[in-house]
Amino acid sequence: MLIHAVYFDGKQARRHEVTVELLADSLVVNLDSDPPQSYSRDETDVVPAIGGAERVVRLADGGMLRFEDNDSFRLWEDRRPLRQGERLVARMERRWAAVVAAVVAVALVAVFFFQIALPWLAKDVAFRLPPQARVHVTREALRFIDGKILKPSKLDEETKTSLHELFDSIPLVRSEAYNYRLAIRSGLASPNAFALPDGLIFVTDELVDLIGIGDQMLAVLLHEIGHVEHQHGMRMGLQASTLALLGTLFLGDISGVSSVAAALPGMLTSHAYSRGFEIEADLFAAEYLMDHDYGIEPLVDVFIKMESIHGGIPLEDVLSTHPSMRKRVDILRDFDRRQEADP
Ligand SMILES: [Zn+2]
Repeated sequence: MLIHAVYFDGKQARRHEVTVELLADSLVVNLDSDPPQSYSRDETDVVPAIGGAERVVRLADGGMLRFEDNDSFRLWEDRRPLRQGERLVARMERRWAAVVAAVVAVALVAVFFFQIALPWLAKDVAFRLPPQARVHVTREALRFIDGKILKPSKLDEETKTSLHELFDSIPLVRSEAYNYRLAIRSGLASPNAFALPDGLIFVTDELVDLIGIGDQMLAVLLHEIGHVEHQHGMRMGLQASTLALLGTLFLGDISGVSSVAAALPGMLTSHAYSRGFEIEADLFAAEYLMDHDYGIEPLVDVFIKMESIHGGIPLEDVLSTHPSMRKRVDILRDFDRRQEADP
C-alpha cells in the first residue's frame, strides 16, 4: 500500500512530501532526492492514535512521518503484527468499544455501590449496632435541634395530655427494643412529625392544629413508629456518612456514629427520607390500622390534608410529597385491596 506522508529527517526542520510504501512488517520512504529508505518493524514506532488526529510514526534514526490518510493507515496498522508489549494498549486504544465498556463498568460499580450495596450495608450495620449507639445518636442529634430549631409547645395542658394518652394507647410503644416516648414542640415552619433512632418521636403544635388528636394523629404516630422499627433514621444517617459506616463495619469503631448524629437533624427536619423508606413506614402504619379496624382512611386523610395545605410542593417527611402524596395514597389503596382479597 502506497500512501502520502510528511517526512522530517530529524536533523533539519524542513518537511518533505513523500510517498510511503506500507508493507506487512516494514515501511519504505520514497524521497525524491535520495534512494528509498526501508525501516523494519523494530525501527518504527507508531504513536498511539488519539481521537481523529493525524497518525505519527517515529523512526529509529530520529526521523518522523505524519500521515493524514487515517483510514489507509489504520488498515495497515490493523494488519501488521504488533510487538508484544504494544499489543494490549494498542488494541484498547483503537477499540472505542472497550473504552466505553470500561467507563460503563465503572459507572455500574458506582451505581451498584450507592444504590444497592451501601443501603444494604447501612441496614445491616443499623440493626447490629448496640442500643447505646441509637441512644448516643439521638442525644447528639437533640443537641442540634431541641431548643434551637424546636421551641417549647404552646398547646394547653389538656391537649398535650390527650396527645400523650393517644401515644400511650399504642401497644407498640411498650416494645423492649426501643425507648418510645413523645415530645411535643413548636417552631418548624410547617406541620411536622419525625422520629429519632432510639424511639423519641416529635410532633409539632402545627400538626396538632391541622389534624387534631384522633385517628389521623394515630396514623402519623404509627408512621413514625414504622421509621423507628425499620431504623430508617440510622440507616439514612449511615448512608450519608459512608466513612462512619465503613469504619464501623471494618474496624468495629462506632465513634463514627457521631457524624450520623450531626447529619440527622438536617435530614429529618428539612428533607425527605427515600421514597422506599416513606412507603415502608406508610405500610407499617397501614398494617396496624387495618389490624385494629381503622382501615387505611386515617392515613389517606392525612396525606390529603397535607397536600391541600402545601399544594403539592415537596416538603419534609411524613408531610412530604416525596414520593407524591397521590402516589402514596395509590400504594396504600393497592395494599388495602390486596389485604382484603387475601386476608
Ligand atoms: Zn416518614
